[in-house]
Amino acid sequence: MREKGELVESKYVRVDYRALTDFVVGVLQKFGVPKEDAEITSQNLVRADLRGIESHGVARLKRYTDGLKNGVVKTHPNMKTVRESPVTALVDGDFGLGQVVSYKAMNLAIEKAKKNYVGLVGVRNSNHFGIAGFYGLMALEHNLIGLVVTNTRPLVAPTFSKQKMIGTNPVCVAVPAGEKGFVLDMATSVAPIGKMEVAKRLGKKVPMNWGIDPEGNVTDDPNSISKGALLPLGGLGEILGGHKGYGLAAVVDIFAGILTGANWGATVGETQGPGPANVGHFFGAINPEAFMPLSEFKPRMEQFTRSLKLLEKLPGAEEIYIAGEKSAYTEEVRKKMGVALDLETIKMLKQLGTETGVPFTAST
Ligand code: NDP
Repeated sequence: MREKGELVESKYVRVDYRALTDFVVGVLQKFGVPKEDAEITSQNLVRADLRGIESHGVARLKRYTDGLKNGVVKTHPNMKTVRESPVTALVDGDFGLGQVVSYKAMNLAIEKAKKNYVGLVGVRNSNHFGIAGFYGLMALEHNLIGLVVTNTRPLVAPTFSKQKMIGTNPVCVAVPAGEKGFVLDMATSVAPIGKMEVAKRLGKKVPMNWGIDPEGNVTDDPNSISKGALLPLGGLGEILGGHKGYGLAAVVDIFAGILTGANWGATVGETQGPGPANVGHFFGAINPEAFMPLSEFKPRMEQFTRSLKLLEKLPGAEEIYIAGEKSAYTEEVRKKMGVALDLETIKMLKQLGTETGVPFTAST
């Protein structure tokens, strides 16, 4: 299997993930974030880079520090559980870092699932939480099924609209299976905005059907798509199922935004302001033991994934993959060889290092 990630065909620098994690912790602390919270945020960002998801890794650090600098993201939020039952909770994140609020909310869902088989936790007044998979993987550590959704700022045009109104609203479903689990972690748009940002940093075009320009024409120019809109999963119109991606994104907004009391649709803000983002999330943890002993469930999952891997391949196809398999492999490789960061990101990190007095020494 090959290492995944948008950068592996481009110019990049390998960086040791432990040194990078420490650097990000150091920078966040300089912006007033307590050490423990800085560690959670840093682990989320670096894990994205480790898993080949450069679109949501440390390249986003400045966005978070800008939010902290202008006070839109609080360094010491007063996070509260505002409604609770044995299997549910509604958490008010008080505009803390999305990663910190989400880490605590997912742990609450896990705690409930361990006691009562199921834990469902809605979150309001939060911020961008990075990769959804980070929280799904937390459930796997406890042999639980993890469900994660979040809404995002409006970036996607609903089917037959040329206006962006919904987010790239990702979904993660993580299920215990074998050593690595089944980890589906995906935007409900054809591509997340982060992949467009990577293309812009590398001066590349994007595939047609990722998005439309302000007039509603399909384009491969990431700058035009930024002014226009991304398309829902399935693309333009109904022919390839764009309406289903739009429907999925709407479902995410119903759970993460409407049900929790967070902002939804076009009202969701950005991490760096100007106003509070009030992003909403929804986390679930389910104990398979509610349905059958784990000792039966895990082998059934392994049988399922093995039967997928053994299917006859299309001509030219190297492998049939299971969701999360490529990311897990890339994580293994990058832990040894270093994560790949593009030169623009390295420049931004060095600038943040100079600004905060935390030297960037992570390059291998
Ligand atoms: P990808 O399209 O890269 O991957 C989506 C899923 O499909 C992954 O689980 C991936 O597994 C799996 N997959 C990839 N190729 C295959 C294959 N050939 N066969 C079977 N499964 C496969 O993800 P996206 O670009 O949509 O999203 C990237 C990240 O962006 C996610 O982590 C998401 O959480 C994050 N995101 C965050 C947002 C936010 O606001 N916080 C908004 C939007 C997205 P594998 O991981 O192994 O490649």
